[in-house]
Amino acid sequence: MKNILITGGAGFIGSNFVKYMINKYEYNIINLDLLTYAGNISYLDEVSQLENYKFINGDIRDKDLLKNIFLEHNIDIVVNFAAESHVDRSITEPEIFISTNIMGTQILLDVAMNFWKKNKEDKNDRTFKEKVKFVQISTDEVYGDIEGGGFFTEKTSISPSSPYSASKASSDLLVNAYFRTYGLPINITRCSNNYGPHQNREKLIPLMITNCIENKKLPVYGDGKQVRDWLFVEDHCSAIDAVIHKGTIGETYNIGGNNEVENIEVVKKIIKYLGKNENLIDYVKDRPGHDRRYAIDNSKITHNLDWKPKYEFEEGLKNTIDWYVKNGTRLS
Ligand code: NAD
Repeated sequence: MKNILITGGAGFIGSNFVKYMINKYEYNIINLDLLTYAGNISYLDEVSQLENYKFINGDIRDKDLLKNIFLEHNIDIVVNFAAESHVDRSITEPEIFISTNIMGTQILLDVAMNFWKKNKEDKNDRTFKEKVKFVQISTDEVYGDIEGGGFFTEKTSISPSSPYSASKASSDLLVNAYFRTYGLPINITRCSNNYGPHQNREKLIPLMITNCIENKKLPVYGDGKQVRDWLFVEDHCSAIDAVIHKGTIGETYNIGGNNEVENIEVVKKIIKYLGKNENLIDYVKDRPGHDRRYAIDNSKITHNLDWKPKYEFEEGLKNTIDWYVKNGTRLS
């Protein structure tokens, strides 16, 4: 039995991960989420009454609250999804990204470390390290742009382009520093673009699906030829599961779907599946600093942790579109 603190568990990936873990294990799950505009607790209605699940509405920057949560629930594992996650917002309001993504992660690291040192340590330091883990959910965007050929490996230098990716890169550095300086058992995951149910409609795929359903214009940045590697959210959840249970302490793992697709192709696939017309496409001014291509080398996690994605892009996209067709009215 383990006690897992999932932060940001009412967001897109976090809520899928809460359900994934509850379906697979009997662990106690504590979901801490501030319910910003991006959180939607109704996604977890079906698990809300379970005995091994508890939701706490609160902030990862609230040190006293975190101390109480660790003490009351004797936390063994932290999976930190809580973040400001939208690149466009980071361009207009960067401060909150620094506060949540950097300060929030540091406060969470500090509380976890102090609690674990005090409550889980015994004379054999190895035992303490084998019992607990801090998993930081990061992004391939920390590597910046990789136009042309080549792939990001875990050894690629970080070179973030937006305030969002810079804040995520900074939190990764802090997580690594807590490993190097204090011996905190950590893993970092850097995943490519996710898609699937529960994603806020400000992001590319849900925006295109919901606008398309409503016969609204489909705003595509620049020439639409930006390339992203897409991973179905359930595959991201299974990768994080593998990292929690099999990841080597101190290591970073890239997670990707080997599904490189141009944004404009994604939009055309959605239009085709929904039986609409491509004249809905509206090319708009490109985002400043827009990265052209992200491409992940996932060989470390596939070889070392025996993980591989289950979903082909076509299948995952159809599942996603079907979900939005059914649940569109519940979206923020
Ligand atoms: P999201 O924006 O959908 O969810 C973020 C959640 O964090 C929300 O529920 C929000 O209420 C919560 N939150 C925000 N500030 C908080 C705070 N101070 N305290 C507690 N909770 C807070 O984001 P997402 O797409 O689910 O992404 C989750 C994580 O995965 C992020 O760290 C993101 O950087 C990372 N990631 C996302 C993708 C992707 O494609 N969406 C890809 C790779 C990595």
